[in-house]
Amino acid sequence: MVNIVLLGPPGSGKGTQAEMIGSEYGWPQISTGNILRHAIEEGSDLGKKAKSYMDEGELVPDDLVDEIVKQRLGKPDCEGGYLLDGFPRDVHQAKALDSFSKIKLVIDIQVPDEQIISRLSGRRVCDCGQTYHIQFNPPKGEGVCDLCGKKLIHREDDQPDTISHRLEVYHRKTEPLIEFYRGHGVLEVVDGTKHIDDIFEAIKSKIDKL
Ligand code: AMP
Repeated sequence: MVNIVLLGPPGSGKGTQAEMIGSEYGWPQISTGNILRHAIEEGSDLGKKAKSYMDEGELVPDDLVDEIVKQRLGKPDCEGGYLLDGFPRDVHQAKALDSFSKIKLVIDIQVPDEQIISRLSGRRVCDCGQTYHIQFNPPKGEGVCDLCGKKLIHREDDQPDTISHRLEVYHRKTEPLIEFYRGHGVLEVVDGTKHIDDIFEAIKSKIDKL
């Protein structure tokens, strides 16, 4: 079982890499951010509880998120391995994860704050999962997705004030996980400022060594 956690600040490319690795190796990609956004769209109880935290760039309370992940990892498609993107986000969640699954590899995708701010403020996303950047990777049509034609979204939490808050939360709560997982002997670091394909190759080489 190859259970992998992708760590890194918001906008470091965890989601993009998780999708690439998932399709290469056939593992499900589990993004707590996506699960929570879908819950908000559906108007479920979970969505109602999560929305205000997410809009403010705060973490959703651990007990809500831990349970979602525990249930998701219990599904049959996770039996051969999985990729976690956006979970764990703090040491409490990492300990919860340890109690119900065994992590083989943690990849920390490192990107400096200045680049994160530029990436997130220009990010536009589509419901279909495709991501664009208004400057570096703009869609061909004005504000619509090249793949499915839907209107692109500027996420509420990708607004400038919320971005700095999310980064502050990342440094305070999530970054300590780097040392936590280094201590467990499962941490590998990759340079997230490189080209997407080079980062993918770097991650693949870590996986193939397992
Ligand atoms: P992301 O798409 O991973 O950037 O997550 C967007 C937002 O969803 C975060 O800013 C949090 O509000 C919430 N979120 C996602 N994953 C978690 C998690 N593991 N724990 C708590 N909140 C989360």
